[in-house]
Amino acid sequence: MRFMKDSAPSAPPAPVPRAHESAAPPPASGAEQYPALDFANSALTLPGGQSLDLLATPAAAGEWLAGHGLAPAGAGLQEVCASRLRALRDQVRALIAARVEGRPAPAGALAAVNDALTRAPAARLLRWDPERGLHREASHPVTQIVEHALAALAADTADLLTSPDADRLTACGSSPCTRFLLRHGRRHWCSTRCGDRARAARSYARRTGTATR
Ligand SMILES: [Zn+2]
Repeated sequence: MRFMKDSAPSAPPAPVPRAHESAAPPPASGAEQYPALDFANSALTLPGGQSLDLLATPAAAGEWLAGHGLAPAGAGLQEVCASRLRALRDQVRALIAARVEGRPAPAGALAAVNDALTRAPAARLLRWDPERGLHREASHPVTQIVEHALAALAADTADLLTSPDADRLTACGSSPCTRFLLRHGRRHWCSTRCGDRARAARSYARRTGTATR
């Protein structure tokens, strides 16, 4: 949380710290459609400048996976699992950033995604039982929960980056936010909060003639 000492008349509009500002904003545009995008955005810098990592602990990572249907609730992740998730996330972010900036895909990030893709099947298998009949179900041997989650997130990353939607991928335009989103029209920020902040910064720059971009 950022606390302004004194608001001199020429200072930018001092954001009043509110409790909700220390919580993650709602999923960015496109992040509900692509879990990989939400995964990339699970490391974020809040508008006030604080860093937040939604996969920081095994419990938080387990909750994030369960919330995205990628692991049963209460799976009891270990730190080694959470750290593998965070490592893949770094590579997914690197791939998305390269795509957004029109740079070649980093070889290390490609290798990491392909490793996750091939280590465990991401496909849900066809099952039958007397109650439900034919249905599809992820095969989740307890020891492979994280492998399956990594594979599913890697597969979704590949889908996102090769779909026509990839042309709409963009980084949130409201500094210091680090989230990615799928752009709709001219809107290029990830949340109302970031949009308000970007607008306030622009109007401050206009008023004072200190355009920042
Ligand atoms: Zn943002």
